[in-house]
Amino acid sequence: MRMYDIIEKKRDGSELSEEEIRFFIDGYTKGEIPDYQVSALLMTIFFQDMTESERAILTSAMVESGDQIDLSKIEGIKVDKHSTGGVGDTTTLILAPLVASVGVPVAKMSGRGLGHTGGTIDKLESVPGFHVEISNDEFIKLVNQNKVAVIGQSGNLTPADKQLYSLRDVTATVNSIPLIASSIMSKKIASGADAIVLDVKTGAGAFMKDIEEARKLAEAMVSIGNRVGRQTMAVISDMSQPLGNAIGNALEVKEAIDTLHGNGPSDLTELCLTLGSQMVVLAKKAESIEEARSLLEESIANGKAFEQFVTFLESQGGNADVAHHPEKLPQAEFKFELPAKESGTVSSIIADQIGTAAMMLGAGRATKESQIDLAVGLVLHKKVGDTVEKGESLLTIHANSKDVQDVKELLYQSIQLSDQSVEAPTLIYDTVSEG
Ligand code: URA
Ligand code: CA
Repeated sequence: MRMYDIIEKKRDGSELSEEEIRFFIDGYTKGEIPDYQVSALLMTIFFQDMTESERAILTSAMVESGDQIDLSKIEGIKVDKHSTGGVGDTTTLILAPLVASVGVPVAKMSGRGLGHTGGTIDKLESVPGFHVEISNDEFIKLVNQNKVAVIGQSGNLTPADKQLYSLRDVTATVNSIPLIASSIMSKKIASGADAIVLDVKTGAGAFMKDIEEARKLAEAMVSIGNRVGRQTMAVISDMSQPLGNAIGNALEVKEAIDTLHGNGPSDLTELCLTLGSQMVVLAKKAESIEEARSLLEESIANGKAFEQFVTFLESQGGNADVAHHPEKLPQAEFKFELPAKESGTVSSIIADQIGTAAMMLGAGRATKESQIDLAVGLVLHKKVGDTVEKGESLLTIHANSKDVQDVKELLYQSIQLSDQSVEAPTLIYDTVSEG
C-alpha cells in the first residue's frame, strides 16, 4: 500500500477503506509517513469530507495508537462529559458530584487549562491539599467507593491525535468537522467511558461560531460514538457570553458550591441539569430525561449533591472545610468594580475577550509552563438582557495587582450596552441523539 494512492483516492472523492485509514494512522504514528504526505491528505479531507464510516474508522485507529484506559473494574455504566470549550465553564465541578450523588459512576480524566482560564484540575487545586496524582488502582478504588474521582491525563493517550493536531495547526486544516470530531472522540474513547455526553458550544467564545456548524459537529461526534459502541448524546449550548457569573479558578469553585446548594446562576444551573439528565439516562439510572432531571433536582434540594462534593474533595486529600466556608478559598488582595459609563441594557458580553481579561489578571496560562494565580478573576453582576444604571457595577475584578487599567479597558470594550431592550440569548439550542 502506498500513501500516494491514498491521497489520490481521497482527492478524487472516493471513500477510503479501513485498511487504508489504518495504514495512514499507523504509518504516521511510527514516523514512517512524512508530514508532507499527511498534510496533503488532511487538506483533501478538508475539501472532500469523510463518510460516517470513514470517520468512525479514523477515530478507532487514533484510539488504538496509544494507551487505552480500562475502567471495567468500576461497577456500572461509566459516563463521561466533554465540552468543546468556553469561558467560565464550571459545569464539570458541579456535574461530577451531582450525577454521582444519584448513583452514576464518574471516572473523570481531566486536564489543566491553556489560554483563557484554568482547566478542571487547576480549579480543584484551589482547594488546599486536593491532588490528582493518584495511581490507576487508587482511582478505580475511589470511584467504586465514592462514585467519583478525578485523575490527571495519561501521557500516552492518542499520540496520533497529538501529531495530527500539531500538523493541522500549521496547515490550515484545524477547522474540519471530520478532523475535529475524530480528534475529540478519540480522546474520550481512549479514556474508557462507556457512554459520552457532549456539550458543543456555539457563539463568539466558541470554536464553532454559528449554530449550523455546531450542529454538524454534534451530529458527527454522536455518530462516531454510537458506531464504535459508546452511546453518545450532545447538547448544543450558547457560548456568546460567559457561562454563569464567575471566571477564574477559586471563584468558579465557589460558584460550583453555590450551584450545588441550589443558589447558582440560572444559566449554569440549567446547563448542568440538561447535561446531567442525559448522563443519568445513559447510565440507565432513569428511564426518561424528565425522570433524570427530577432526581438531580431532588439531590440538590436535599443536600446530597453537596455532600457528595465534600466526600469527593476529602477522598483526594482536599480540605473540605472550604466547601462549608468558601471564604477560605484563595482570595485576591484587591477588588475593583467596573461601573457602567451610561444607563442601558447589556447587549453583548464578548466571551473570548472576557476570557482574555481573566488571563491578563493571571487566571489562565499563556504557555504550558506559566504559573496561574488561583485567586484572581472576574465576577459578572450583569448578563446579556439585564438593565444597568449609570455608575452601577457591571462586574468585580479580583486582582493581586493594583495596576488593572489595561484589563478595565479591555472589559469596557467587551461589554456593550444598548438603549433598546435586549432579550437574553437562548441557552440550549438543541439536543442531538441518534435515531
Ligand atoms: N479540540 C480537540 O481536541 N481537537 C480538535 O481538533 C479541536 C478541538
Ligand atoms: Ca462560571
